[in-house]
Amino acid sequence: MRTRIFFKLLAAAVIVIVVATITLDFAVRRSWEASLRQQITLSLTQKVELFAHQVQDVSHPGLAQDVSEISKAANARATVINSSGKVLADSGADPPEMENHATRPEFIAALQGHTGSNARRSHTLGIEFLYVAAPIHGGAVRLAYPLTEILETVGRVRKTLIEASALALIIAILLAMLAANLIVRRLRRIMLFAEGLASGELSTRISDNSSDEIGQVAAALDKTARRLEDTFRALESSRNQFETLLNSVREPVIAISSDQKVLWSNGAFSRLVPQLRIRDSLIEMVRDPEVLEAVHASLAAHDARSAKARMLAPGRIFQCTVAPMPSGAVLVFHDLTEIERVEKTRRDFIANVSHELRTPLTSIQGYTETLLDSTPKTDDPVREFLLVIRRNASRMARLTEDLLKLARVESGEWKLELQNIPASALLADAEINLRGSATQHQKKIFIEHSSDQEVVADPDAIQQVFTNLIENACKYAPADTQITLGVRDTKNESRQMEFYVRDSGPGIAAEHHGRLFERFYRVDRARSREAGGTGLGLAIVKHIVLNHGGTVRIESVVGQGSTFLFTLQCAANAVHHEESASAAQSR
Ligand code: ADP
Repeated sequence: MRTRIFFKLLAAAVIVIVVATITLDFAVRRSWEASLRQQITLSLTQKVELFAHQVQDVSHPGLAQDVSEISKAANARATVINSSGKVLADSGADPPEMENHATRPEFIAALQGHTGSNARRSHTLGIEFLYVAAPIHGGAVRLAYPLTEILETVGRVRKTLIEASALALIIAILLAMLAANLIVRRLRRIMLFAEGLASGELSTRISDNSSDEIGQVAAALDKTARRLEDTFRALESSRNQFETLLNSVREPVIAISSDQKVLWSNGAFSRLVPQLRIRDSLIEMVRDPEVLEAVHASLAAHDARSAKARMLAPGRIFQCTVAPMPSGAVLVFHDLTEIERVEKTRRDFIANVSHELRTPLTSIQGYTETLLDSTPKTDDPVREFLLVIRRNASRMARLTEDLLKLARVESGEWKLELQNIPASALLADAEINLRGSATQHQKKIFIEHSSDQEVVADPDAIQQVFTNLIENACKYAPADTQITLGVRDTKNESRQMEFYVRDSGPGIAAEHHGRLFERFYRVDRARSREAGGTGLGLAIVKHIVLNHGGTVRIESVVGQGSTFLFTLQCAANAVHHEESASAAQSR
């Protein structure tokens, strides 16, 4: 940098000096030369007039002798010619050998009676002369002065000028070096400051107090650095607060970039996955396909997703929530191990109790039947008691059966045997299987809309769904009404068929819709019990449909009947849906 600034300054100085020298040389030389010529012409004119006065006539006696003396005294060549131009006397050459001078401009003027002058190269001597001639009687006299002296004098001036320029150049070089040194030193400080800033030394300052342009730049940069330092400190402190906050959170948290590289993790995650390294790929730490799929989907769709992580730590299950960030995502893991364990214990307990109750209930039902058979059909109160026992025993048997079914569906023990089956076949089977039951309740089943589109389903499980829904319709709708079944294409992106079961029953108020599929939730408890309900039918429906990767919902208005709807995946996307159904089942 130093050399460059130095050379730039030097080049500027050299250009100024050279231009000044050339200009000076040209101007001074010209005016100097002109003034010298003028002086010489003036003095030569005076001398030639004196010469003319001394000689006066061409017939002047001792002309050659006088001419020679005058020449010496005037320090110039002296010549005398007659009116025809013939040289009569000359101090520098032999007159007979000299040519006629009548055509010389100065003699022309002199022969016409004036003093004439002319500067030109001499034919005889080959150097430039100034000629001045004056008239005399019968001719003219002339003095010639060599101008080589002028050239010598100008040459001397020029030499002095060049010497002065050379001196100025040396001074310019020294000054340029000095100035370059000063500027470079200040610029170097700015450069070191910028490098310091780039390497994170935000407290660095230039502190240049001068008020010139470099000083102003330095002051502006110092101000910027101060601002940067303040902002950085504020950022650092909020980052520390944020980090402390996240580290104090018990849930493992990890942040990833959009190319799924780990950007940051809190203490809980580092303890859970000790091999974690920042900038590593997420896939090296989290191998759960469900979680990776959720991350992929969240990054692609920019919305939150969740999935279960079973492979993060041996024997532990986490609910992973993936929330998108501007350039990546944050994964929060919520430990479900204990909840799952309690849930499993509860399911096992219910299943065991239900299982254990089966045998004694069958026995109670058997003995009640035997006792009823042997009791006369009179108004005997014993028979009444036995009928109550039989009714309650069969209710308990239904309850234990439903509990067992629900436990099997919830735990995933009921493995779905998925196959591609036309929607129409599922509807037709439902109609055939439940026609008898409907007839008993004075209802008719009617298939309103069917479709040959294949769906992915376990036909037995779906028959259980239809059974529960149609039996509910039988239980709650008035006699001599119709139960309508149907299926339609949802026409949404995920290609699903939606099945429905509609009745003309009492309908269900909207406030119950949200909780209707919970176990033991009943809208009208007395009515359900009276109808022999267990409160588990819709919970079983929900779990079977969820295990198929579908959804359930209800459309109902009080007094206008109810429609229960559930979706199943179309077989065209069989692979994908089987995957999502089996994923749902594993949940
Ligand atoms: P339940 O064995 O009591 O029928 P469900 O889980 O099958 O249990 O149904 C839950 C509750 O939803 C029922 O108690 C009933 O109040 C209401 N429900 C279900 N289906 C219908 C229907 N088709 N019409 C009116 N109410 C219904």
